[in-house]
Amino acid sequence: MLSAKEIRSTFIDFFRGKEHSFVPSSPIVPRDDETLLFTNAGMNQFKDIFLGLRGPECLRAANSQKCLRVSGKHNDLEEVGKDTYHHTFFEMLGNWSFNDYFKAETISWAWELLTKVWKIDPNQLWVTVFAGNEDDGLPRDDEAAELWVRHTPIPSERVLAFGKKDNFWEMGETGPCGPCSEIHIDLGPDRCDKKDVPGHECRVNGDCARYIELWNLVFIQYNRQPSGQLVPLSARYIDTGAGLERVTAVLQDKPSNYDTDLFMPIIKRTAEMSGHSYTGQLGHRIDNAFRVIADHSRTLVMAITDGATPSNEGRGYVIRRILRRAVRFGRELDLHEPFLYRLVPAVVEVLGDAFPEIRERAEHVVTVVQSEEAGFGRTLDRGLEIFTTAAARAMDSETHTISGDEAFQLYDTYGFPIDLTQLMAQERGLRLDIDRFHELMMEQRKRGRGAPKRDALLAGLADSDLPATEDLPKYQADRCEATVLGWIDADGFQRRGEMPADTEIGLVLDKTCFYAEAGGQVGDQGLITANESRFAVEATMKVGNAVVHRGTMAEGALRPGQTVTALVSADRNATKKNHTATHLLQWALQHVLGDSVAQQGSSVGPEYLRFDFTYPKAPTNEELKQVESLVREKIATDVPVSWAVLPREEAEKLGAMALFGEKYGHEVRVICIGAPDVEHIDQAFSREFCGGTHVDHLGAIGGFKILKEESISAGVRRITALTGPGLTAYLERSSDIADQLATLLRVPTEKLPERVTQLVEDNKKLSKQLKNAARSGGPDTMAEARNLLDAAEKIGNTSVVVGRLSSTTVDRAREAIDMLKKKAGSAAIVLAYDDEEGKVTLLAGVTDDRIKTLKAGDIVKQIAPIVDGGGGGRPQMAQAGGKNPSGIPEALAKATELITTALRR
Ligand code: ATP
Ligand code: MG
Repeated sequence: MLSAKEIRSTFIDFFRGKEHSFVPSSPIVPRDDETLLFTNAGMNQFKDIFLGLRGPECLRAANSQKCLRVSGKHNDLEEVGKDTYHHTFFEMLGNWSFNDYFKAETISWAWELLTKVWKIDPNQLWVTVFAGNEDDGLPRDDEAAELWVRHTPIPSERVLAFGKKDNFWEMGETGPCGPCSEIHIDLGPDRCDKKDVPGHECRVNGDCARYIELWNLVFIQYNRQPSGQLVPLSARYIDTGAGLERVTAVLQDKPSNYDTDLFMPIIKRTAEMSGHSYTGQLGHRIDNAFRVIADHSRTLVMAITDGATPSNEGRGYVIRRILRRAVRFGRELDLHEPFLYRLVPAVVEVLGDAFPEIRERAEHVVTVVQSEEAGFGRTLDRGLEIFTTAAARAMDSETHTISGDEAFQLYDTYGFPIDLTQLMAQERGLRLDIDRFHELMMEQRKRGRGAPKRDALLAGLADSDLPATEDLPKYQADRCEATVLGWIDADGFQRRGEMPADTEIGLVLDKTCFYAEAGGQVGDQGLITANESRFAVEATMKVGNAVVHRGTMAEGALRPGQTVTALVSADRNATKKNHTATHLLQWALQHVLGDSVAQQGSSVGPEYLRFDFTYPKAPTNEELKQVESLVREKIATDVPVSWAVLPREEAEKLGAMALFGEKYGHEVRVICIGAPDVEHIDQAFSREFCGGTHVDHLGAIGGFKILKEESISAGVRRITALTGPGLTAYLERSSDIADQLATLLRVPTEKLPERVTQLVEDNKKLSKQLKNAARSGGPDTMAEARNLLDAAEKIGNTSVVVGRLSSTTVDRAREAIDMLKKKAGSAAIVLAYDDEEGKVTLLAGVTDDRIKTLKAGDIVKQIAPIVDGGGGGRPQMAQAGGKNPSGIPEALAKATELITTALRR
């Protein structure tokens, strides 16, 4: 029996034998494609080739691509666990032809591999072709149907035609697409999982586990425009995808994907941890939880390895949702403590050979998963209680519906992803008011940051609408001559006429020395001029293969065809220093902290540099100092910085560091520090894949200082540092502050720390003294009040508490009245005190049972004049101020008299 590993490699070897190059899987988190949250098919990394935006590096390629289907057009999250052959993460075995072979070869090779190499019984196989579509004006794919019959022994009855939904493959709402031909396998009537569904009929595309799609052969011929229109591509491509997990289940003769060696080690580990056992049944609560957990743990490992981090938006939120779902399913197996992170080694064991990156980053993944799990676990149980109550209420109601408000509360307060709540509702046969939920979400969003910023200028612009810009001059010069090709404005790309003034546009040249934002380095600013005309560039970015200079006309006018001079701002020199320093920083961090340091991202501009890296804990101050010194030592050596463009394999052999998961072409640019020239690249101490701009000699960096080190998410640290002009400005500011302090504290600058330490200590001592004095020497208002109560006379049930307190605060005196009222039950109270400045305060209080006959406000009004004051208040509590402390005894005597008279009446 073939192992999954062998199946993967027989696939790749088979196509190697047909002159295909192995192209490694692209990362699951696409770096440069904002239209896509996660890689969802093998073809994603070749999209630009299909669109004609770049040339292929080979004519034929094959690989096993990491795919995630949890969002957008392809979302299989709901299926996971309920069926046995849809996963969130899966591997797609694929072969590609870039305008080389087409349908005939694709069909015969697929058949050959399935039936000859893998020895699947041909009688079990069925195929489908595209039936055509009128709306899109597409004909039926008779060619493919004929090829199947001509090139393989499959009988024509087993070649079926289906419509757009099944046999026209599209990556997303837009992009490359085309008719496809699918290969399905009939696993026999026993495997049907829809036997109980009324009217169910087992057939190809009949949605049961008897007929399963194994392999999809896509004939990429069109580009779907944002308008929905199909535009034929200039060349024809083959794009195929076979699910490794499904093929493995078939070849290992297992009843489901979960029973193969791709999942069993994870399921076994889960069983050990939980004490439950997996019995492989569908629609079974416990088994379902096993499957979901196995699936989701693979997804988490793959996605976090490739740079996704749980968060509240975008990719991060998808990952968070998956993790929380898995944790919730853990409760079904009585796993209440964090457990997912303990499955990471099992996933690494299964997939680490095929994808070594997960082995390298296992420690990071464990840190991230564990901390996220612990955080969610704390609120989960409380949330589950709330859900249970809501579910019970819904069960009793007529509509059997959980309200949108409850779902929103679960989402907002307890972090329950809505699909999780939905799923839990479904499990109980309940509905959920999803419209109301979305309404509340919208409201919250409105309350929040306001509408998200949209890039109006570039919205709706397809890469293919723009010409290419030659931008190699960015590495050599700050100035170059070029020709205007056109500009982008609200109406798209313009090739004719005069550029509008007073509005932001995107200028496109035939060549440029401006650096377009990429790889963490900011896009350049500067000027584009011709004679009297000046265009001010605020930002530079790449759209497709065009470099777009964004900004406004500052003077005069420009038109396409005109020759201009592009002049990059001097800021770029500062950016270069920061960029090279970032490479030094990474090298030094690895030197000091070890191999678990891997770049997570960076941001390099003229002012500062920021470097994000994986590391499970905070580096110590000594370690950071050491990193800083290492970088400075290197700068002092002033060794040259050089670069070379090499084939990727060669660069990798030299040990050049690639940004984890970054998409690199066949040729890569490698920045080498410490080699005398590119011929001696092996002598360099730092070699990194990088397309950025750098200084020529380390000495040019001028200096280096770490400004801040912090944690930005579990397992990810961030260092912000300065070089060049940013550092100089910082030093100037700091020394100004030190000078000011020195003047203020009247000590020489170098004595500042000593003086401040002393001040801090003095301050501490004094506060302590003050506190002690207050505790021992200060009046205890409460105790004084209690004494007054003890000595008080009673008229009927009512205590008459009248007396003078030592100097205190109004709050404390009021508290004393409240206390007296409570203690006495029934009371009439008047308290007086004065302070050092001779201010008198009178307070009166009467309990509710007596306010009919005696009102605190009245008492205060009558006695206040005796202390030269006035005031009043409610019947229960009143207050007055006065200026004559010597009148206090008389005022109190008057109060006693008033009270006694009133109560005796
Ligand atoms: P299905 O109809 O079964 O969902 P699909 O039409 O969405 O499949 P394609 O987009 O054509 O699948 O992907 C190519 C191949 O990848 C499929 O033939 C199948 O073997 C595999 N595949 C697709 N989705 C999944 C998934 N969620 N989990 C595992 N394998 C999958
Ligand atoms: Mg599908």
